[in-house]
Amino acid sequence: MKMEATELAVVRPVKRNILLNPGPATTSDTVKYAQVIPDICPREKDFVGVMHEIRKDLVKIVHGDSSKYSAVVFAGSGTIIQDVCVNSLVPENKKICVVNNGAYSARMVEIADYYGIPCVNLEFATNGLPDLDVLKETLENDKDIAVVAAVHHETGTGILNPVRDIGKIAHDNGCIFVVDTISTYALMPLNIAEENIDFLMGSAQKGLAAMTGVSWTVGDIEEIEKSKNYPKRSYYCNLYMQYNFFEKNGEMHFTPPVQTVYALRQAIKEYWEEGEHARWERLTTCWEAIHRGLEEMGLRYVIDKNIQSKLVVAVKGLKDPKYDFFTLHDYCYERGFTIYPGKMFGLETFRLCNLGQITYRDIEDFFVVAKEAFKNMGFTLPITP
Ligand SMILES: *Cc1c(COP(=O)(O)O)cnc(C)c1O
Repeated sequence: MKMEATELAVVRPVKRNILLNPGPATTSDTVKYAQVIPDICPREKDFVGVMHEIRKDLVKIVHGDSSKYSAVVFAGSGTIIQDVCVNSLVPENKKICVVNNGAYSARMVEIADYYGIPCVNLEFATNGLPDLDVLKETLENDKDIAVVAAVHHETGTGILNPVRDIGKIAHDNGCIFVVDTISTYALMPLNIAEENIDFLMGSAQKGLAAMTGVSWTVGDIEEIEKSKNYPKRSYYCNLYMQYNFFEKNGEMHFTPPVQTVYALRQAIKEYWEEGEHARWERLTTCWEAIHRGLEEMGLRYVIDKNIQSKLVVAVKGLKDPKYDFFTLHDYCYERGFTIYPGKMFGLETFRLCNLGQITYRDIEDFFVVAKEAFKNMGFTLPITP
């Protein structure tokens, strides 16, 4: 018997929380209920079929040619796929170079470090774009670098990095280009080949607004095949091992998070129904509503607007002793809105992220609550510096 979650489960509305943290994101009720399915052994053909369709869709979402790119899926949060890409794609005696301008690129440096992989850490300020002349010079002078890694959207600050240009420099110097696109995948239109990307990353709880527990890379098949002969630095998180198992058996090597996969399938269906451009437009109007709200309140953003991703706004905290992030957080949380501390070194910030199944109306509702919270802390609005 074919199993269709929506046929079997009654979809009752669940209290809707607006998550303005950087993932997991607000999900639809249909995605939540897609997890409620009859028990199934993931080795059954039905489940293998589900997995097969999902992998095809994951390539299609980034406009990848299925004869050139493959999606390799792992069970874990987003960091697992950073781990997989960093530990699996650096050949023996070669180096990885990380374009590092934020917390998520710093994490890839740390991963390389944990595996003892030689890493050139190109560190730039976390409040601006990387200097690509430095990258160019570094790659021209160090022919042991085989992999360039960067983050498309530094979710900690909301900066959108120029991956197409970084990828061009990487390719001009014979390197493959690995990009953490976890906080842009299925959020903004993204074309893997046009952006000069060889491997990109996604995670179910971010752009697709599904459940945490499945992450993937969409990567160049030829490069995956080559990596078969690279040092095997991890057992569970080896890219080629997982790819090969998928190709041979159509499924993950080890037990997949079955229910989470069904939720992902539903989220992908909703992605196609909405359409990539309509989704980007919806999210852009959320970002515009965030800026309107901040301006009305007299709060400042940290990153130049023209390099913002339009998916995250880092907001300056206030030096005023009346201000307390946790008071603000708790007031909003109790009313169904979750905000998140910033991830910038040496600067007090908090973040408003518009990643999930939300609209600009939810953002407007949030600002009604945020204004009350500031008034309760003793501020008069708008706040004057
Ligand atoms: C969320 C995120 C990750 C992964 O974080 P997890 O907590 O492991 O899910 C990685 N990179 C970026 C850019 C992210 O936004």
